[in-house]
Amino acid sequence: MSVYSLNGRKALVTGANTGIGQAIAVSLAREGASVVCAGRRACDETVGTITQAGGNASSLLVDFADPMAGQGLFDGEGYDILVNNAGIIRRADAVEFSEADWDDVMDVNLKALFFTTQAFAKSVFASGGKGAVVNVASLLSFQGGIRVPSYTASKHGVAGLTKLLANEWAAKGINVNAVAPGYVDTNNTEALRADPERNRAILDRIPAGRWGAPEDIAGPVAYLCSPAAAYIHGAVLNVDGGWLAR
Ligand code: NAP
Repeated sequence: MSVYSLNGRKALVTGANTGIGQAIAVSLAREGASVVCAGRRACDETVGTITQAGGNASSLLVDFADPMAGQGLFDGEGYDILVNNAGIIRRADAVEFSEADWDDVMDVNLKALFFTTQAFAKSVFASGGKGAVVNVASLLSFQGGIRVPSYTASKHGVAGLTKLLANEWAAKGINVNAVAPGYVDTNNTEALRADPERNRAILDRIPAGRWGAPEDIAGPVAYLCSPAAAYIHGAVLNVDGGWLAR
């Protein structure tokens, strides 16, 4: 079997109804994993794409606006892969940024990610198995950004937690890593593409000369879940068309 194969593995992908999460679910299924697509809306399109291609997938309604929504999700279910992809962004000048826009983003992007991952690890440790966690970080895990204070704080937090959890669990059978996508064409970045000046400035700085597609992120995530990445712990892999190299 290929070292990239996910045959026989069971994965949960959060926010799998659209964008990067959808592409990740499709990619994991293509490598042989059975994929549970978790979202606050049904992931019917994603499940349809996977099953039509002969893969195995189902949809699960979970709203991570409740940071403890992941409790009990994994117990006895045989999961060995978790991809924390669900995320939101709010834009406003820092001087006017509201508490609600702070709390909503931190709850979904950081607090839910931590407690969902904790629940996953408890179930893996209880079963005596092994596991892989991939968190979806951001360029704003490294850079400051502008007008997105809670998003930047949350994604810096995701990079930090990725390393902390890797330190605690590397010897216990769970690989924890992250990908840091660059500018990817999804709902999350619609406002940027709609602004011709921002769009041009962004494109001018990307060595690859184009926005990323969700599939550009999905392959590296599948790799980090695979046996080929067994000795990778605590990495935050930039998948950004070269943005951070510049
Ligand atoms: P997207 O199309 O808006 O996808 C975000 C996903 O998260 C959607 O499935 C969304 O569901 C889900 N979600 C949001 N709040 C949720 C909640 N409370 N409970 C459950 N699911 C929830 O944007 P995307 O670009 O694919 O974003 C995916 C991840 O990539 C995010 O973590 C984002 O921060 C990260 N990222 C994106 C970029 C980029 O350029 N696009 C760059 C760096 C990092 P709904 O469809 O119901 O809203």
